[in-house]
Amino acid sequence: MTKEESSSEVCIGHRDLVIGASSMRIIFIGPPGAGKGTQAAALTQRLSIVHLSTGDMLREAARAKTPLGREAAEHMNAGRLVPKELVQQLVAERIAGPDCRDGYLLDGFPRTVEQAEHLDKWLDAQGASIDLVVNLAVDDAVLLARLASRGREDDADDVVRERLRQYDKLTRPLVDYYRRRGVLREIDGHGTPDEVLRRIVAEVEAAS
Ligand code: AMP
Repeated sequence: MTKEESSSEVCIGHRDLVIGASSMRIIFIGPPGAGKGTQAAALTQRLSIVHLSTGDMLREAARAKTPLGREAAEHMNAGRLVPKELVQQLVAERIAGPDCRDGYLLDGFPRTVEQAEHLDKWLDAQGASIDLVVNLAVDDAVLLARLASRGREDDADDVVRERLRQYDKLTRPLVDYYRRRGVLREIDGHGTPDEVLRRIVAEVEAAS
């Protein structure tokens, strides 16, 4: 049995028992340090849907030193968004894959209104739509403390400041973009990971 088969077997039962949601398409937005990655991993396991983290994909490409990875790393290490062409290609290929037919969670994409408009076009072409956008809200002081304790390569002080600046300028407008579409849910990202997950699960249940 492949890993995929065994995990979906476990998770189908889990999903019915715990949440009753299926085939959902979910987006997580929130500033660096808000806990998107941790919460996305926990939620996708519960829902048995694919977790697509553009940050993870780009870091993997950078580690493998592919041409795309080398180019992306220059931007990531400076705290800037990588050029949209690099990310959009990765995501478009991924969400067209058979494992994404039954739903997925996008963690870190879209990150600009322009990326969101591209995503809408791909979804329209598939006759699909986003079910839920979770905005994880965390105070700046808490974000900075979390990032300082994490130790990732792009968590150095000056890089963090630039990532927060990029978030404010380019990503925050997405909150309104999705609010207008009626799919946005604001989640309080303070507290333990379990507390935050419970709040997210309640919204997923309400939306499913
Ligand atoms: P994350 O793991 O989501 O914090 O992403 C880490 C870094 O990857 C970001 O600071 C960006 O440089 C890059 N990145 C991830 N997702 C995107 C995206 N959708 N568009 C542009 N750059 C991205």
